[in-house]
Amino acid sequence: MEGLLARCRALPTLSVLTACSRQLSGRTPCRSHHCGPGSGQRLLLSRIFQPQNLREDQALSLESRSGELTCKSQRLMLQVGLILPASPGCYHLLPYTVRALEKLVRLIDQEMQAVGGQKVSLPSLSPAELWRATQRWDLMGKELLRLQDRHGKEYCLGPTHEEVVTALVASQKNLSYKQLPFLLYQVTRKFRDEPRPRFGLLRGREFYMKDMYTFDSSPEAARQTYGLVCDAYCSLFSRLGLQVIKAQADVGSIGGTMSHEFQLPVEVGEDQLAVCPSCGFSANVETLDSSQTNCPVCQGPLTETRGIEVGHTFYLGTKYSSIFRAQFTNAEGKPCLAEMGCYGLGVSRILAAAIEVLATEDSVRWPGLLAPYQVCLIPPKKGSKEAAATELTERLYDHIAEAVPQLHGELVLDDRTHLTIGSRLKDADKLGYPFVVVAGKRALEEPACFEVWCQNTGEQLFLTREGVLDLLTPVQVV
Ligand SMILES: [Zn+2]
Repeated sequence: MEGLLARCRALPTLSVLTACSRQLSGRTPCRSHHCGPGSGQRLLLSRIFQPQNLREDQALSLESRSGELTCKSQRLMLQVGLILPASPGCYHLLPYTVRALEKLVRLIDQEMQAVGGQKVSLPSLSPAELWRATQRWDLMGKELLRLQDRHGKEYCLGPTHEEVVTALVASQKNLSYKQLPFLLYQVTRKFRDEPRPRFGLLRGREFYMKDMYTFDSSPEAARQTYGLVCDAYCSLFSRLGLQVIKAQADVGSIGGTMSHEFQLPVEVGEDQLAVCPSCGFSANVETLDSSQTNCPVCQGPLTETRGIEVGHTFYLGTKYSSIFRAQFTNAEGKPCLAEMGCYGLGVSRILAAAIEVLATEDSVRWPGLLAPYQVCLIPPKKGSKEAAATELTERLYDHIAEAVPQLHGELVLDDRTHLTIGSRLKDADKLGYPFVVVAGKRALEEPACFEVWCQNTGEQLFLTREGVLDLLTPVQVV
């Protein structure tokens, strides 16, 4: 800290002062008044904990050491330093990934709360007796990660929370039908002892999931809630620009009477789907008779496709509420069991699946709303003919931050000016910033012109400062 302050005081120029920026996560903010707000808190790429130096060969050797198969999203996420392997099926999520995940969680919060969802956080350590009550302590087999505390009491690390949440609601005595429905959800780490963790974040042993549990006063009300949550899922995926298939699904070990999977069609997907092109019927093939080749709705021929399951919904009825006595008093004053539903979204999986679908062979592409940073600015190479435009780029950064408030905190300045513009542009392309602004030859023209790469349309534009601001003003940020 002392050293940082001293360096900060000794160096006079604005671009160096930014090294004291409060945006440098993990550091104590510099308290020198030179570094306060307004003096250019620019986020410098060289200071982000993001292993740009981790090149392909190194990343792939790390990967082969952990003995995993690779798919496009896993390979790219390793190459550009979004994730690093920790142990089989477990990854370190690095800052860009965490930013994208946090954006996804904000979107999910919006959609869940729009249908009445209330966010909770239930313990990951889940007592064995709850799981024994539903017999899933045995039924889940080796997938449950089990452990004992010092008193010999048994737990699992929760892969899902039907038992825990139903016991929680059951502990609330004197619930009235007037208080229902409850739509309780959380976004937490889940654990599953996968026999073969693979494909990076697509099938890990520790992952983020959004799980919602709903409690209604009648089967009709529960079906209505089921429809609302499914619609919220459709709305979420449409905002992400991802085309998902809502497929009829098997209830599996969760149980219940009705279930749908939300599947992202992609070659590497592990689920096989039967889709009817004429009426839109879709089903996981597990739910169909193996001899069935025609659509059960319109009798048209079914086509097969592969998908990644990104969401799953279940109408549970009273399967869990009857075991834990989760009940309420109805209008006649009689105790009734709550009608339940449960609804999962694979949060870290959605992120990887989106990259799997949108990325090119060499470059990560994000749903616009999830891009970790919206804009990367690339000043000229040090010592080049255009070097005079360096300050211009820094001023443009400040102008954008000021004139386009939602982009405050969404801008990165690639200050690695020992590298050519070309190699930094290539890195920016690999990371998939929606907008890359380069100060090239035309930055020295009067008025200065910046080269702007719009990654999602593939356009390259030459724009003045005002043109850049006009282009960025409508950009949406979660
Ligand atoms: Zn059909």
